[in-house]
Amino acid sequence: MITSHPESWCQQQLADHQLHQLLEKVDADLAAQAHVGGCRFCGGKLHRADYERKPRGGPAWDCRYSFCCAREGCRRRHTPASVRFLGRRVYAGLVVVLVAAVVQGLKPQRVARLRQALGLDRRTLGRWRQWWQVTLVASSFWKAARARFLPPLDPRTLPGSLLKSFAAHRRDRLLELLKFLAPLTTPAAWPEQVM
Ligand SMILES: [Zn+2]
Repeated sequence: MITSHPESWCQQQLADHQLHQLLEKVDADLAAQAHVGGCRFCGGKLHRADYERKPRGGPAWDCRYSFCCAREGCRRRHTPASVRFLGRRVYAGLVVVLVAAVVQGLKPQRVARLRQALGLDRRTLGRWRQWWQVTLVASSFWKAARARFLPPLDPRTLPGSLLKSFAAHRRDRLLELLKFLAPLTTPAAWPEQVM
C-alpha cells in the first residue's frame, strides 16, 4: 500500500502541516457538537474547561477540548472524542497509529533509524504494539467494530492491516481511520485501555 519506504511516508505525514490543520478542524467540530448537545446528565449548559495537553511527536498542540456542566450540583465534565489525542497516551494519536503500522515488517536497523529520528525508545514501540494487538482487540469498542472488516483482521497484523483496510495512504482515508478510532479517545473508554 505504501511504497518501498514506509518510514519516509510516515515522517511526511507526521510533518504535514495541512494534515495537522485538518485534524484541528475535525476536533473543533467534534467539540462544537458536544457543546450544542449540552450536559448528557442534566441537560445543563456546558462551559469550556479545556485540558492542557502537549502530545509528543506531533505538532505544537497545547490543549484538548473539554467542557464542564454549568449547573450547580452537576458540574460534570464532558470531553468530546478527538482525532488528535488517543486516550491518555503522551504521544499524538497520529504517531501511535502511523509509527506502529510502518515498523511492522521493517528490518531492525530501519526500525532503529526511525525510532532515532522520532526520538522514541524501544519500550514505547513495544507498548504500542501491545496496545493494538492485545488491549484494543479486547475492548468493547473493537468487539462492536470488528465486524465491519471482511475478511476479519488478524490481531497480530494490527495496526498495519487496519491502515491497509482504510487505504490510509490517502489523507482523506487516514482522517476516516482517525475518526473511526475517535470513540476510544473519550474518558469513558479509558478504563479498558490502561497501558
Ligand atoms: Zn449537568
